Amino acid sequence: MIAEVIFTGTELLLGQTLNTNAQYLQQALAAQGLDLYRQVTVGDNLVRCAQAIREAAKGADLVFIGGGLGPTEDDVSREALGEAVGLPLVRDEAALTIVRRFFVSRGVSMPDNNFKQALVPRGGLVLDNPIGTAPGVILAHGGKHYFLLPGPPREFARMVDEQVLPYLRRHFAAGVISSRIVKFCGIGESTLDQSLSDLLKSTNPTLAPSAREGQVHLRITAKAADEAAAGRMIAAMEAALRERLGRHIFGTDGDTLAGAVGRLLAGRRVALAETFTGGFLARSLALDAAGSLACGLVLTGDAPPALPPGLRIKPEEDVGEAAARMATAVRAYAASDFGLAVTGAEVGDERSVERFAACIATDDGASCRVKELRLWGNREQAARRAAEAALILLWRSLA
Ligand code: AMP
Ligand code: MG
Repeated sequence: MIAEVIFTGTELLLGQTLNTNAQYLQQALAAQGLDLYRQVTVGDNLVRCAQAIREAAKGADLVFIGGGLGPTEDDVSREALGEAVGLPLVRDEAALTIVRRFFVSRGVSMPDNNFKQALVPRGGLVLDNPIGTAPGVILAHGGKHYFLLPGPPREFARMVDEQVLPYLRRHFAAGVISSRIVKFCGIGESTLDQSLSDLLKSTNPTLAPSAREGQVHLRITAKAADEAAAGRMIAAMEAALRERLGRHIFGTDGDTLAGAVGRLLAGRRVALAETFTGGFLARSLALDAAGSLACGLVLTGDAPPALPPGLRIKPEEDVGEAAARMATAVRAYAASDFGLAVTGAEVGDERSVERFAACIATDDGASCRVKELRLWGNREQAARRAAEAALILLWRSLA
């Protein structure tokens, strides 16, 4: 079964409202095993909305239309569907009851323009909306199914969950599409691409890489008769990935790098001295691996006199030497298992690709590892990347 989705709303096109209904519906359709090949957004315009519906019906079996079911002039989805399929709109008593109920329950009289919300393309099945005024509609016509759904995200989500998905399950039991994201660090997207070129051609499950700050995420998506079968296909693909590049994999799905570091630390603790990253490292570990954080010091030029000399910033010092000295000093200061330090300085200008020189050091008591970085972008981007690189260095020295 092929689905296509049309979202209506000029505010979506203008970027004033984020299309959160899109993500909600996409995930729901995928979980039903329905293929979504295309999704469009149109403004509040009858002609363009009707045109989008006709276009969608050429390639899809199921056409979803989100938004535009309000009582005002610019809500045109009902009319657009009627026009696209050549059916008149008729007043539906069930729909009128739903619209009326909303006002009755609030003890106010129903404005005349809300009568419009009780109009349905002839033959359409009305969907209840227990928390809003706009009833939804399912219309089976010409071998296709059309779904009109209200725009407000709470109403949209509830109608999808309680009425649309059960309807889809009853009529089009289709199997499932299931995904898992495998997360890599310390490897570039192109290296990963080369190492996995044969696997990347697989059609079921499919593999889709996306590059993140310091990480690459690879989404495995399997289509199968049921969740268990999809799970087995995903597990087999994940095993193949781990066999080739397991040393770069730090987690899956909701895992974070800091969380992975925390698991590897397994009760051991790390102390941080950050001059360049302004607390980004402390934040990551405090949120995702709190038990592993002995302390996090954000140091500036004027460190409190009570701090040991090894943690004072010396203006003339090389960033690499400073990082190593601080990693060792902060480890001793906190009596922790590991010390991790980040230092850095601006060495270029806004346009230069090597604008910042940063240095990360980790000390585990036996040895001190140092890594130098050249970073571009603005100050915050550079700080975030340096913090990410520090976590990668620590993860590697533990893994
Ligand atoms: P409508 O049903 O088009 O009158 O929309 C009602 C409300 O829901 C408005 O505040 C819209 O901005 C909001 N809305 C409509 N479509 C979406 C969407 N796809 N994602 C998030 N909000 C939406
Ligand atoms: Mg709208």
